[in-house]
Amino acid sequence: MERYKENQIKVYNSLSKKKENFKPITEGYVGMYVCGPTVYSNAHLGNVRTFMFFDIVYRYLLHLGYKVRYVRNITDAGHLENDADEGEDRIAKKARIEKIEPMEVVQRYTVDFHNVLKNYNFLPPSIEPTATGHIVEQIEMIKEIIAKGFAYEVNGSVYFDVLEYNKNEHYGILSGRKVEDLIHNTRTLDGQSDKKNPQDFALWKKADERHIMRWPSPWSDGFPGWHLECSVMSTKYLGEQFDIHGGGMDLKFPHHECEIAQSKTCSGKTPVNYWMHTNMLLLNSQKMAKSTGNFILPNEILSGENDILPKAFTASVVRFFNLQANYRSILDFSGEALEASEKGHTKLMEALNLLDKIESDKTSTFNVQEWENSCYDAMNDDFNTPILIANLFEAVKVINHIREQNASLTAPDLLAFKKALNSFVFDVLGLTNENHQANSEKINGVVELLIKLRKEARENKDWALSDQIRDELIVLGIQLKDGKEGTTFSVN
Ligand SMILES: [Zn+2]
Repeated sequence: MERYKENQIKVYNSLSKKKENFKPITEGYVGMYVCGPTVYSNAHLGNVRTFMFFDIVYRYLLHLGYKVRYVRNITDAGHLENDADEGEDRIAKKARIEKIEPMEVVQRYTVDFHNVLKNYNFLPPSIEPTATGHIVEQIEMIKEIIAKGFAYEVNGSVYFDVLEYNKNEHYGILSGRKVEDLIHNTRTLDGQSDKKNPQDFALWKKADERHIMRWPSPWSDGFPGWHLECSVMSTKYLGEQFDIHGGGMDLKFPHHECEIAQSKTCSGKTPVNYWMHTNMLLLNSQKMAKSTGNFILPNEILSGENDILPKAFTASVVRFFNLQANYRSILDFSGEALEASEKGHTKLMEALNLLDKIESDKTSTFNVQEWENSCYDAMNDDFNTPILIANLFEAVKVINHIREQNASLTAPDLLAFKKALNSFVFDVLGLTNENHQANSEKINGVVELLIKLRKEARENKDWALSDQIRDELIVLGIQLKDGKEGTTFSVN
């Protein structure tokens, strides 16, 4: 269904710092690139927040009927320990410490990342390209930037010439940083650096003898700079200009600023129409850090194996909690807040279970269309999930009123209400009714046991007990049916 025709989304564009009407380059199609993880350690909860938000963007665009190509990369080489092109490659360092191959590090943490995302019910992206899978293309892009006069080689490494670029373009257009200020903010590199200017950034680094992750190039055996892979892979899969580029706000500078400079140098075009950035996540009002112990892994929340939270929480509750905050606000993760979300989540799921049992009436006391429109309005307004969730709780109220016979819906309204509610809860927000499933499995087990006991009672001609089991189950809404194949049951 081409719902996008009647739903004008507004996107807060980090580039213009304004909400803008979203208009894709090609009608009906959306190209979206999100910077993926550097796979040198377990998936970080802050990253999960970022990817979860873009999962919602992806889900909603699909719901509106857009054909979406969603590209999220895996950084498996070239990401150095700090942004000043200094220090070791993060993956190579981990490999050295653990005495394993860098590709073993990459494999281990890519598997972990996928496992976390699967647990949290993420839709997989359309393409998940890797940096090491695109070394040839990265070398080609460096050649192009050198040929255009915006990069230079020194001792086997190649750097992007920020000052040259800034003569006619605006380096800092996204982050608001000024090139002059960057000189003072950049650590002076005690004569070690080959860079002409401290603002310049590496496109290619010559590998020293310790460095195992290396590839031949016209300049040296080495490896690409981190920023380059995203320019290369977004251009390759989405074109020189595409619709949405996302990531955590910590990537605005230097990573995304450098991406813009590289891509614009090659194509002469503004690469991205809408930049979207998610805000950070705190744990108990403080920055999450392994060193201070204020740290939790996404899977530890599910298993309950941690010292931070009072108990385990389901993935759907964590998702619900995340989406109760706007993506541009700081999210403060805590046991208390999660417990509050769990209550809300249960209320919502209980209402959805009730909805299946509700019967229609002759008149409607609730305007379903108006309510549905307000759900779309919330999502159209820069993917405002907290407002959508507030609307879902309006629906919960209505369901409870119907149950108490204080409200009613006609058959077509009831059908439309169920359809819209289910699609917003499960398709758009990606929540799951885990407790419902787990409980119904338990109920099935218990009823099967009672059926067995009733059969034994009948075999012993204990009709009183047999009838008691049947009658008391009826009171609970469970109907036993005796047939040739044995006894079956239905739950009302
Ligand atoms: Zn990136």
